[in-house]
Formats: sequence, structure tokens, C-alpha cells
Amino acid sequence: MSGEKTIFKKIIDREIPADIIYEDELCLAFKDVNPQAPVHVLVIPKKEIVSISHLEPEDMELAGHLFLTVGKLAEMLGLEEGYRTIVNTGKAGGQTVDHLHLHLLGGRSLQWPPG
Ligand code: ADP
Repeated sequence: MSGEKTIFKKIIDREIPADIIYEDELCLAFKDVNPQAPVHVLVIPKKEIVSISHLEPEDMELAGHLFLTVGKLAEMLGLEEGYRTIVNTGKAGGQTVDHLHLHLLGGRSLQWPPG
């Protein structure tokens, strides 16, 4: 991958601070800086993948790992009442950071549909 590092890559490389709540060999989870719910965490792969559309067959295990991590974190954060997981893709999908990330939102009653 070429070009400037994304803000999330800088968090992975510890070049900028983040409130990291979980890390393993494949992924990192940290609190969203602009939370939209009492719990708003982002789960990102350490591998630089722009979006869902950029996933390759070789990323299958990693993609599954990200989902399993969301479930583990939801349990850890006490979200037994339920929570929402969102992945925005591309400009029209509302993605502003070009590094794949799963939003984990919870701690309040979430409405549907989103805007
Ligand atoms: P949107 O900005 O529309 O939510 P994304 O789905 O791309 O689009 O989400 C990017 C998320 O990253 C936003 O929720 C934003 O608040 C969060 N964010 C941006 N910079 C940081 C940062 N330095 N630390 C933590 N979260 C960040």
C-alpha cells in the first residue's frame, strides 16, 4: 500500500494516542473519539485493508476474527441487552477513514433505520 498512513494505521503504530481496550496479533479495538452511544468502540485489523470491498479470499480468517472479537468485546463491556455492529464502506456508505473498521455501539436503545 502506498501513500500517507491513515489515522488508524498511526494508532496501530502507536504514533498517535488512542484509548485501546483490546489487542491481539490480528486486531486492535479502541474507543471512538466521537462516541455516538455510551459504548462506541472500533475494531480494526492490524493489516492495512481499506474496506470490505478490498477483502481478499486470503483475509477470510481475519474477517471472521474481527466479528468474533466484536462478540467477545460486547460480552466484556456488559452489552448483554444487545448492541449494533456497523461497517461503513466507501463515500456513499459514510466511510471517512480508509482502513476497515467495525463500529460496536451499545449502552442505549438503538433506532432503526439509520439515516
Ligand atoms: P464516520 O466518520 O462517518 O463515522 P467511518 O465509518 O469511517 O465514518 O468511521 C470513522 C470513525 O472513526 C468515526 O466514528 C470517528 O469518530 C472515528 N475516529 C476518527 N479519528 C479517530 C481517532 N483518532 N481515535 C478514535 N476514533 C477516531
